[in-house]
Amino acid sequence: MVIRCYSSRMRNSDIVQAWKCILAGRTPALSIEITRECPLSCPGCYAYGESHLGGDVLLKQLGDYREEDLVSGILELVERYRPLHLSIVGGEPLVRLRELSQLLPLLSARRINTQVVTSAVRPIPADWAVLDRVTLVVSIDGLQPEHDARRKPATYDRILRHIAGHRIIVHCTITRQMTERAGYLREFMDFWTPREEISKIWMSIFTPQIGETSYEILPQEVRARVIGELLKLREIYPKLDMPRSLIHAYVKPPADPDHCIFAKTTRCVTADLRRRIIPCQFGGNPDCSQCGCVASAGLEAVGRYRLPMGVSVGSIFNLSLKIGSLIGGFAGDGIEPLSYSSKGG
Ligand code: SF4
Ligand code: SF4
Repeated sequence: MVIRCYSSRMRNSDIVQAWKCILAGRTPALSIEITRECPLSCPGCYAYGESHLGGDVLLKQLGDYREEDLVSGILELVERYRPLHLSIVGGEPLVRLRELSQLLPLLSARRINTQVVTSAVRPIPADWAVLDRVTLVVSIDGLQPEHDARRKPATYDRILRHIAGHRIIVHCTITRQMTERAGYLREFMDFWTPREEISKIWMSIFTPQIGETSYEILPQEVRARVIGELLKLREIYPKLDMPRSLIHAYVKPPADPDHCIFAKTTRCVTADLRRRIIPCQFGGNPDCSQCGCVASAGLEAVGRYRLPMGVSVGSIFNLSLKIGSLIGGFAGDGIEPLSYSSKGG
């Protein structure tokens, strides 16, 4: 499962920037599904789920863009929404490698913090490694036997070859299968932590749709055990970039999308570059009570933080969202047409 987040750990300056952005009626983060294509077929993938885009169309059925149309389409979205942070997700972003090689230097020059979330199924160009403000997040779901079975052809062997010379963030989505053997997560950390290519490791927990019954879902008692384990692992492995407050947020996720700071501060757009994914990157009807998204938990932790006068950051954000929506028509509006020529297939 891919992650669409802007950071598990925000600095004070990031919060102030995001706050200013919200007050001006803008959404601080933009997440774009750059393509409808993916050579993987991971079990439990929400992007290709039936309800991801609201039920009337599937990601695979959308028209998407290539070449100049894709580059200009994304730049137009960036120009329009002026995000502080852009996540490029898929499908698999590396399917549009040539376009990304054109786009990333342009985004870097515009000082947009851009995160490419990939399975590393193809070699990552060496010149991406020197781009300022570009971060690569590689989805690695479990140890080699489980990962390779779930995510072939993006196998461990390929990932290790394709990330050479880069500094990447590992993102692992914990599924029930990874909880069935004691010490599994520690073994995962032991494998990835010593590698110089790895700057940080993030762990999400599988988030189902309401009513979903897939085996990936962690039963409640297992989820509680995993949360306890993460709290211990973060003390042992500094690369596990998850503050205690973030991990604690997994205990009680936001009650619903209206109470999710992440959902309210991230505009997610799918591969036709028109349709908005709601209520959050998962689309459909996600089960917030079982949310394990590291980005949502990170912002929930920030929101729960109490300032010296006793007011929570979240209540200030909420008030600011209301003001911002009055000022800039901030509230989401589903499908948004673009003006550039629409050649998407
Ligand atoms: S790589 Fe991502 S988009 Fe592709 S099938 Fe797997 S989870 Fe879905
Ligand atoms: S809490 Fe709900 S709305 Fe927020 S990211 Fe999780 S599933 Fe989506």
